[in-house]
Amino acid sequence: MEEMTFHELGISQEVLKAIDDAGYTTATPIQAKSIPAILQGGDILGQAQTGTGKTAAFTIPAIENIDPDIKGLQVMVMCPTRELALQVAGEAQKLSKYRKVKVLSVYGGESIDFQIRSLQRGAQMVVGTPGRIIDHLNRRTLDLSNLKMIILDEADEMLNMGFREDIETILDHMPAKRQTLLFSATMPDAIMAITHKYQKNPSLIKITRGQLTVSTIEQIYFDIRSSVKMEIMTRLIELYDFKLMLVFCNQKTKVDEVTEELKSKGFSAEGLHGDMRQGQRTITMNMFRKGDINILVATDVAARGIDVEGVDAVFNFDLPQDVEYYVHRIGRTGRAGKTGKAFSFITGRKEADRLRSIERHTKVKLQKGTIPGREELEAVRHKKVITLVGKQKSSGELDSYYKLIEKFTAEGFSLEDLAAAFLLKHFPPESETEEITQFSSDKGGSRSKEKRGKNGRRRSGNVGMTRLFLNVGTKDRVRPGDIVGALAGETKIAGRDIGVIEIFDKFSFVEVPKKDADGVLRGMGGAKIKGKTVNIEVAK
Ligand code: ADP
Ligand code: MG
Repeated sequence: MEEMTFHELGISQEVLKAIDDAGYTTATPIQAKSIPAILQGGDILGQAQTGTGKTAAFTIPAIENIDPDIKGLQVMVMCPTRELALQVAGEAQKLSKYRKVKVLSVYGGESIDFQIRSLQRGAQMVVGTPGRIIDHLNRRTLDLSNLKMIILDEADEMLNMGFREDIETILDHMPAKRQTLLFSATMPDAIMAITHKYQKNPSLIKITRGQLTVSTIEQIYFDIRSSVKMEIMTRLIELYDFKLMLVFCNQKTKVDEVTEELKSKGFSAEGLHGDMRQGQRTITMNMFRKGDINILVATDVAARGIDVEGVDAVFNFDLPQDVEYYVHRIGRTGRAGKTGKAFSFITGRKEADRLRSIERHTKVKLQKGTIPGREELEAVRHKKVITLVGKQKSSGELDSYYKLIEKFTAEGFSLEDLAAAFLLKHFPPESETEEITQFSSDKGGSRSKEKRGKNGRRRSGNVGMTRLFLNVGTKDRVRPGDIVGALAGETKIAGRDIGVIEIFDKFSFVEVPKKDADGVLRGMGGAKIKGKTVNIEVAK
């Protein structure tokens, strides 16, 4: 579909100006088709994927249809969640700023009295969740006499959330002479049923996948053991210097776990899942929106429909169970023509198969990612330090510190000593960036593992070797030599028989020949590495 400016769609000057202020230059396909159709007065059944601009597709004509001289309610929008209601109300306010339309959002968890007073002051457009709208209907606080348009946004999600009855109750209350618009990313049967019952000859406007604007999203996958997901994710964050990221997990407990680990590594991260109270969720969302937190870790349900501008990257920490979720998740980045990156971690044959079915479904082939190694990360850190020092120097921030240097040199430290100590803060010890390998399979093909890595050491997962887990890591300042030393010292194993050693933050893995494993486990009982008593067991 060719690009279309908003000027060709029959929109008034005031709204065009607001659209321009919003930075929208061309209409998205769903907007180009829906806006004129809605302005003509018909019912619409609009289907397009998440992130394709459905909100403006209905708010623009809705604003156009509101008569500023009538102070009462004229347009009502139903949304599945409070977050979405606020988002739609925000979009409506933004696009009607030269028209002065009174927009009110109504949802549970906020004082109903406050909402009633606002309604009495003459809201012309109400955006709400089905539950709260019904509340108002029951209290007769909604004057429906001027209502001419009702919109169901994210209809599939509302049905998924069990709002079907509420939706029908609300629609049964609406004046017969009205325009009914329904927007959804998918069209399950339940939606068709509502359409049949409540819409009049609706025009189906369907934007197919081919017209999706996901081409701006770079989709990358890593085929790895699940124990290295966190390490790889943090390396990618550092390498690309992402500012705003969404991390998806399949379970609430995983959300908590990943959030905690990110926090312990010094990232500003918060979790979002269905067990949290609405108030807490809103606070977290707003902090993320403002960039006060950089990483939002969420389940699919909690992040449903959330739209935050400027998300640089989406991490599928767990590959989603459902192919549709994949599309929804990655649609949160690369929005509005900006580029974004979507990283998916897969572990095991089953997930490799699932990834292939995602590829078939989205008709996009994911690229296999390269795990950032030490050299790349050091280059990034190098650049950062140069920029930092350059900035600090030119801003004069360093001036008062030159005096301090004299004090230290008087104590016998050389300038090199001081500089090295400063660099230590920016360049973690070498062992923290151990080389990690991926499974070299083509998704689902034979999963052969790389045989040899650097230093000629065998790679992890070799036949005849047993992988052991140790509860010490870089946090305890453990280096490979310490592990070799302890094993060789405490047990009968020879240093050269020890296989791959992988050291992470809080734990490590070491490979030993299968025949020696029992001896090592026994010998290491109660042994210490770097002063810490080691717990060692066979890795799962
Ligand atoms: P959907 O409801 O289809 O998931 P949204 O309405 O939330 O999508 O829009 C997704 C993003 O695209 C929002 O950030 C919105 O501001 C932006 N957007 C909408 N229309 C346009 C446009 N014509 N040009 C540029 N950005 C747009
Ligand atoms: Mg939407």
